[in-house]
Order: sequence, then structure tokens, then C-alpha cells
Amino acid sequence: MMASVHAAENSQDKVIEIHDAELAVVLGAKASPAEKRVAALLAERIKNRTGIALAEPGGKAALRLVIGTVASNDKIKAFSATRKDIASLGTDGYCISADARKGELYVVGQSDSGVVAGVGRLMREMRYKPGTLELPAMQITEAPQMPNRGMYLWARKHYFNHPDRVDRYIEELALWGCNAVCLWFEMGLFKSFDDTEMQAEKTGFHDSHRNRLSPQQWLALYRRFYKTARRMGMKTGLGMCANDAYRTSPEALRIRPIIGCPNWYMCPSKPGAVEQMVAWQEEVFKALAPIDIYNIFPADAGGCSCKDCTPWPTRGLWKVAKPLGERIRKISPKTEIWLDTWHLNHPTFGGKDWKNLVANLAKDAPAWMTGFEVGLAPHHKYAKMSAEDRKYYNQAKQPLTVFTEISMFRNHPGMLVKKDYWKSLQDELNDYDPKLMRGGWLYAERWNTDIAMTLFNSWYWNPRKPVEAVLDDYAAFYFGPEAKTGRALLDLLDDGCRDPQRKQKIRQTFEKLESAVPDWVKKDWRWDEIKLNCSRFRVTE
Ligand SMILES: [Zn+2]
Repeated sequence: MMASVHAAENSQDKVIEIHDAELAVVLGAKASPAEKRVAALLAERIKNRTGIALAEPGGKAALRLVIGTVASNDKIKAFSATRKDIASLGTDGYCISADARKGELYVVGQSDSGVVAGVGRLMREMRYKPGTLELPAMQITEAPQMPNRGMYLWARKHYFNHPDRVDRYIEELALWGCNAVCLWFEMGLFKSFDDTEMQAEKTGFHDSHRNRLSPQQWLALYRRFYKTARRMGMKTGLGMCANDAYRTSPEALRIRPIIGCPNWYMCPSKPGAVEQMVAWQEEVFKALAPIDIYNIFPADAGGCSCKDCTPWPTRGLWKVAKPLGERIRKISPKTEIWLDTWHLNHPTFGGKDWKNLVANLAKDAPAWMTGFEVGLAPHHKYAKMSAEDRKYYNQAKQPLTVFTEISMFRNHPGMLVKKDYWKSLQDELNDYDPKLMRGGWLYAERWNTDIAMTLFNSWYWNPRKPVEAVLDDYAAFYFGPEAKTGRALLDLLDDGCRDPQRKQKIRQTFEKLESAVPDWVKKDWRWDEIKLNCSRFRVTE
């Protein structure tokens, strides 16, 4: 059967219409695991949403989508030779060239991550109808402005009970241009590294989200998620609290209690404690290697209030952070090591002593230190940064990355929509010197931070992209032909919505959406989150 591909005129845009078995995906002879996986995800998404199967790559398909990098695919190499913009594509950038008249479409990536982000963008540009896939003719070249585009998943609250779903989510993050996943190994959940039991007793530290795994099972799960991330061309990140310890830590080496820190943490001023903490961290690091990005957290949890550790930033913290950074650098020279300053505005951590730490390190930055990780948390009393604080970091001239709070502030069931908060985060992000800003981690506790994820992964590429434009992208991708209604519902669900008829309108809009969206919208877990959010207004059953 001969396939026909139409380049139909649609007002101003040329739209390429694709039907069953008309489009083949062509990978190169040296296709990477990321390229193979993203090609499979593309085929799966097209099939699920339109019913269309792709054509065999070796056959005579009317249209061929060539995917890869100059190194992996000779067709890409030949195509790129004709394009100056591809030769100068920034790190992790991509180029999409869709012109039906030539019979070939291209997604060219500068790296694996670029290929994946490019295919993700292509998926978002496509329009899915039963039996028909529409793709606007287009030429897009884009590269991210920030190299570290990460998501931090706080594991034990809502994610770890659904490892298969987390795997799929990590893949979806990559499609949005995210290139790193960070996890925190909490030593204090266990009696020791080799403990074979799960945590049985209460510890008073996030007891509502008890651990159900032994440390080795826990590490195995981390390795699994990292493997999923690497297969998508992503980096791995590990967050560790500087003076963390197992719950059987020697009593004599423990901290003098301080806010937000379990008592089994160790005091860096006591003889032998630092050596022990560094050895434990090394053990975890090696068990999870390779780790691309290592984050040393000072607090929450962490700290010690003894007189030798006070003030914590320049004294206790630095006593352990310095040898820890040196050790990690020695065992893994390519790992980026960031020093976080989360929560240090609290009076118990010396108030503004973190400024002395930043000043000292700006003057004489240790070779192992990549830069500072600063809180982006305008509603967190002790992690928030004032305009003056941001200026201070800018003047320190060290590379910066942000740790962004999107889960704790005004958490509620169901997909979070809070445009004003997001806009304030964006303003703050853009208040840092763009020459220093390298990206960051989004602190996510649960699935409902998905929209904020798309915002930040859009901003790491283009930090000026308006919130409204990202919401439009989101609605188009996840509500399909009902994007407009879905978008209206998101606006009504927004925590800032003051419409007096809000409840009634939410009911009507949800009902309209529910009756009109294609089935694939309702099969996505996001639909359940939307429903959960609507249920807060008692409009769903
Ligand atoms: Zn101490």
C-alpha cells in the first residue's frame, strides 16, 4: 500500500498529516541507548494517542524521521554539514527540521540529552487525532541556558511505593529537557550500612513516612532509578547531609541538640567524628557511583549546637564539609561538588554567619568546590534569600545553583496550581547573575508538583519564558484537543483564583473536560491528580 503524506495549508502554517505506517523512525548505526529508548517512547505515544503504527525503518515509508547526533548517525552528520546553526549548537541543544517536501524530518541533538529533549519537543508540537498525527512544518533550534536541569525526588514520602511509575516519570522529565535526578541517602534511617532490617522503631523524624526497606534494598532502588536516568542521557545527583550518621553512632561523638537535627548525627568537633562521617559518606558514594553531582547540605537535617561548632557555617559545618569535599574529589575527580546553604538564616545557625562562609570561600575557593547551592524558597522563613542576599552571592562570583521549594508551601491534594508563587520563583531565579547561574534541583515530595517541574525545566532552557506560555504547553500536551478547556480549569484551580463563581465554574469546566477529552488523557496519572484537586471543591463524586 502506498502511503500518502500531505503538506496541507492550514491558515498560515503548513501541517504535515501522517497516517498509519507512513512515518518511519531512522536511527543511526551507532544509536545510543538514549536514542533507542526515546524512539520507542515516541512510537508508544503516537500509538496510544492516535492508534497509528510507525513504518519499518528499512522500508519505503513516505516520511522518515531521522534521530541522533553527528556521532551516532551518518544521515544526521550529512544533514548537519549543511547547517551552520547545528555546528554551533550549545551543550545539550537540539534542532528540529520538519519539512514534508523533502520526505525527511530531523531531530538533531548535540548530546543524548539534547536528542531526548528534541524528541520531547517534537511530541509536544504534534497534534494527536484518532488515525491522524499532525505535525506543523517547522525549523527550531534551541539550547539550554543552564547545564544542570535537575529534579530532586524526596524518596520516601510518595515516590518509592511506585518504582515503576518513578521510572516512567524520570523518562518523562527528560522529555521536558530535564537532565539530572537527585536523591538523598538518609543514613539515619538505618542502624548501619550493612543493616538487613527495615526501620522498625519510631525516630521522631518524619515518622509519618516510615522507611520500609533495608539500606541495601534502598541502595538497589537508587541504582535502578539512576540507571533509568542514565539511559535517557541524564546525570545522577546525590544529596547528603554533612554530619549525618547511622542511628547506632557512638554516643560520645554525637551532636549537642539543635533544631531540625536528629540526635544521632555526629559533632564534627569531637575527635574521630569527622573521619567516621567521611568514611560513611564514601561508602554510600561508592555504592551508588558514578555520581555526577554531589550536594553537601548543612542543615535540615544537620548541625550541632556545641560551643566548638558554633556558629555552624564557618565552624562545625566547615570542619566536616572541607575533608568531605576533598575526599569525594579524590575518589571521583569529575564529580561536581556543590556546597548548599539551605536553612542557614536560622538564628541557631548563626543568623548571617553563612555570609562569612561565602566570603571565605569566594576569596579562596577550594579546588573541589563547584559552587554554592542556594535556597529558592520565598515562603520558607529560614531558607529564603532577600534581594540583598542574592546580591551578596552575585558579588561572590562563584557558580550558583538553586534548590527550589515547590512541595512544602501550601501543599494540598491534587495537582498544584499557584501562578503567583511560580512567578515569584522565576523573578528570584532571574535576580541571580546569569553568568553564574548553572541551574538547580526542584524539591519534589509528590506527584502534584508536575506543573512546577515543567516550568523549571522550561526556565533552565529559557529563564524568561512566561508562566502562562508554559501552562499553554502543558495543557496542549496533556489535554490534547481539549487544551483550551483544560487550561481554563487550571486557571480556576489556581490558588490565587478569586472568581466568586469559582466552585460552580470548576464543576462545569471539569464536567465539560471529562466528557470531551480523549481516553488517553484519562489514562494518564495526571488526570487523577486533576480530579483530586477538583474534589477539594466537592465537584467530583
Ligand atoms: Zn559540635
